[in-house]
Amino acid sequence: MQSLIPYGRQDISEDDIQSVVEVLRSDWLTQGPWVPRFERALMSHCRAEYAVAVNSATSALHLGCLALGLGEGDTVWTSPITFVASANCALFCGASVDFVDIDAQTYNMSVDALERKLAEAERANKLPKVVVPVHFAGQSCDMRSIRTLADRYGFRVLEDASHALGGEYLNAPVGSCYFSDITVFSFHPVKIITSGEGGVAVTKHKDLAHRMSLLRSHGITREPSEMNSLPDGDWYYQQVALGFNYRMTDMQAALGASQMNRLKEFVSRRHELAGRYDNALSCLPVTIPYRHPDAYSALHLYPILIKSKGKKYSRKVVFDYLRSKGIGVNVHYIPVHLHPYYRARGFALGDFPQAENYYSNAISLPLFPSMDLVEQDRVVEALRTVLE
Ligand SMILES: *Cc1c(COP(=O)(O)O)cnc(C)c1O
Repeated sequence: MQSLIPYGRQDISEDDIQSVVEVLRSDWLTQGPWVPRFERALMSHCRAEYAVAVNSATSALHLGCLALGLGEGDTVWTSPITFVASANCALFCGASVDFVDIDAQTYNMSVDALERKLAEAERANKLPKVVVPVHFAGQSCDMRSIRTLADRYGFRVLEDASHALGGEYLNAPVGSCYFSDITVFSFHPVKIITSGEGGVAVTKHKDLAHRMSLLRSHGITREPSEMNSLPDGDWYYQQVALGFNYRMTDMQAALGASQMNRLKEFVSRRHELAGRYDNALSCLPVTIPYRHPDAYSALHLYPILIKSKGKKYSRKVVFDYLRSKGIGVNVHYIPVHLHPYYRARGFALGDFPQAENYYSNAISLPLFPSMDLVEQDRVVEALRTVLE
């Protein structure tokens, strides 16, 4: 039996392990020096002025929505081809969610569909307060056009860049927030770098960063200037908002900071492997991922579409065959609007046809920095066998 090749996995070095062990031997397991160090590494990479590290990207999306003032009666729009957290963050705030169909080539939110939907929403007086573009598979959305629409229609932009750390858009790092208010990254083990669990929100806006850091830790402040009375003494703090415990630990931050040293290496290895897939699959009946010239993708995923029209196999046959050969393929994503929870909120099959069409043919092939070429050739051979 050959070993299982997962679709993604972390790459942990001895240096990474040492960093975490040092924290374990230190005085601080949480709220020590490592969280601000990791935040500084992220700010410097992204060229953004502020970073607020938290215990997951889901928490970062929630804090981002709250900082942007989202609440009851407001609406968030996102892509249906994403992880559920991109949409759930709106519901956490009591707001509602709607979706914008994807572009058939990039699988990102379609700017044409967004523009049409905004024009309709303006007539119905139902414009969104926040739009959450998701940089699917690590490739940036068309942020320049989204910014133009944001200025015209007055919505805020919260980038879900969970897949895209180390990616670039128009030669600037994803996370620079040049076209957005806040950008969120995830450090779950399958993502580009990991802190075990973890996430961050980066922004250029001091007030947004301040609000997010306040809400990250119970809405509690120790800053006398933020209190409504003089402090009773050195022990004093005040709760001034309803916050959460979304803090990242120092073990997590030390791991994340150590992983940042290899970010470039991780992404270029992903490009090397993706380039090999591109070549090997070019003569098979599949659609390989399109690379937009404006973006340098972080290549979190390598999703292919199976062209099964008139063939005796379907996506499911191909998927099951690859899994039977120990190849841990996956599907990213089940369109969010088709989950029972969202159907119960009024969404139905047929609402977002490009997303649904993508979903019915998509398979994510294994792609991670420590994947070796022999493993990759095994994936290609298995695909060739089932498709021929
Ligand atoms: C992984 C992911 C998230 C959630 O990240 P967590 O850190 O696991 O909370 C959100 N959005 C997208 C697009 C993701 O891929």
